Amino acid sequence: MKKLCSVCDDSFEASSPIKYCSAECRNEALRSRQRSFNTRWASLQRILQKEKCDPRDPLWKFSHYASLIGSGICVFCESPIEGGIALDRENPSLGHTAANCPARSNPVCGWCNGIRSNRLTVDQMFRLKPLLVEFRKENKCQKLK
Ligand SMILES: [Zn+2]
Ligand SMILES: [Zn+2]
Repeated sequence: MKKLCSVCDDSFEASSPIKYCSAECRNEALRSRQRSFNTRWASLQRILQKEKCDPRDPLWKFSHYASLIGSGICVFCESPIEGGIALDRENPSLGHTAANCPARSNPVCGWCNGIRSNRLTVDQMFRLKPLLVEFRKENKCQKLK
């Protein structure tokens, strides 16, 4: 089966679900994933500082944050998460804490975060999920031109 390398766009033959044409491209993908992880983590720490999050809160631990967003796939629309810290707050009027950012509703993409805002509950978002997944596939982009 012909495939396109998701790093260099070269086409290559593969029968298994391989996404990269070479070990170099695979390493580059890992490095860029690590870079975006580090950027998100730095932003989250700034936000926690600003919100004066309790220093004992598990969200201060990188391992906790990594376990929340590790899948890289939005729980609502099943698209890859983009920029930002990718955390959804159960109660948007409260700050970011481990309790307010539970695993069942994280990570979340910017698109779904914008749709939910402070108008829909997490449960309503899950009721909307089949449509969100469908709309994401239909539009294949973040914003309509
Ligand atoms: Zn490649
Ligand atoms: Zn989403």
